[in-house]
Amino acid sequence: MDLSKISGLGFVGLGAMGLPMAGHLAAKLPESIQMFVFDINQASVDQLHSEFPRRIVKCSSAKEVADKSEIIMTMLPEGKHVRLVYIEGGDSTICSSDVAGKLLLDCSTIDTASSLAVKDYINKKFPTTSFYDAPVSGGVVGAQKGTIAFFLGCDGADPNMPHLTTLLKMMGKDVIPCGGPSKGLAAKLSNNYLSGTIAIAVSEAMDMGMRSGLDPRVLHKVFAAGTAQNTISDRFCPVPGVYPEAPSSKGYTNGFKVQLMRKDYNLALEMAKRVGSKNVLGEAGLATYDGASNDPKCRDLDSRVVYRYLGGREDWQKDADEATANKLT
Ligand code: NAD
Repeated sequence: MDLSKISGLGFVGLGAMGLPMAGHLAAKLPESIQMFVFDINQASVDQLHSEFPRRIVKCSSAKEVADKSEIIMTMLPEGKHVRLVYIEGGDSTICSSDVAGKLLLDCSTIDTASSLAVKDYINKKFPTTSFYDAPVSGGVVGAQKGTIAFFLGCDGADPNMPHLTTLLKMMGKDVIPCGGPSKGLAAKLSNNYLSGTIAIAVSEAMDMGMRSGLDPRVLHKVFAAGTAQNTISDRFCPVPGVYPEAPSSKGYTNGFKVQLMRKDYNLALEMAKRVGSKNVLGEAGLATYDGASNDPKCRDLDSRVVYRYLGGREDWQKDADEATANKLT
């Protein structure tokens, strides 16, 4: 669907991710396009409207958004919300509108089964409508900066690919077609399983090295130069004070909440089971994120707070400073 030919773009779900994503669209779409938005939280609808009063039209349901838009995007918490907003919420759903020929894009991170159920329903009721899963990676800061990556549930040769790329690049940096329906989600869940497992492994490896007398800054250099090199250690080091830009160095704030990692990790394990993938680390990883999500010292903080949950030392800098002072005297 060519952006130059549409007059309305809809957005449902203006939360931590959806609000800044919709904000980028409001700032960058061609002037002729109006944006129709809805969230059950009126405060975020009002906030977006106050920032872009001429572009944003407040709607009272997902159906109204769908009635008025040719492209409709959603950014919701879980599969149950996506099913509710598209098909299960009575006469206020997207599919209670006539969405024939429209383009629907769900960016939520949800279970592949819910996404496929929504797609099947749409395919049957509106054979000319396109529905894509398009989950994102890059966190709230990435959404604010417009640097998130989109994992698209379609083939690179899909006829909508050029228009989707133009649209999604207004909100992010990379758009990766993953092969077909629900494969964007399968890719996202595989990625978060790997990233979450690496964060636990880096926390454990850092802790054992530090307890053996090593300075974490030395370990950080060693991992970066050795076969253990990985992005979590390099740029999201779970030990506070090692990498200044990491959430851990800012009190584990401004990152990817540990409860969201728990949710995605669980979805990844369910997917692994469903497809018969052998999984030896998953149960231990899930128990760790489960525990950290329910621990008042970790809840609501960046997921790399697993280092704290596992008992890693955070005030190591004191020893390092004392050792330097002793050398000088
Ligand atoms: P959020 O909870 O901040 O936002 C979700 C929004 O959906 C809220 O504003 C909520 O009011 C709205 N909503 C819920 N039910 C609704 C309904 N029935 N109708 C209309 N609006 C409804 O969540 P978020 O952090 O923005 O995450 C959204 C999705 O993106 C999740 O699936 C999450 O896993 C994924 N994600 C989040 C991050 C992150 O760092 N926060 C990163 C990548 C992906």
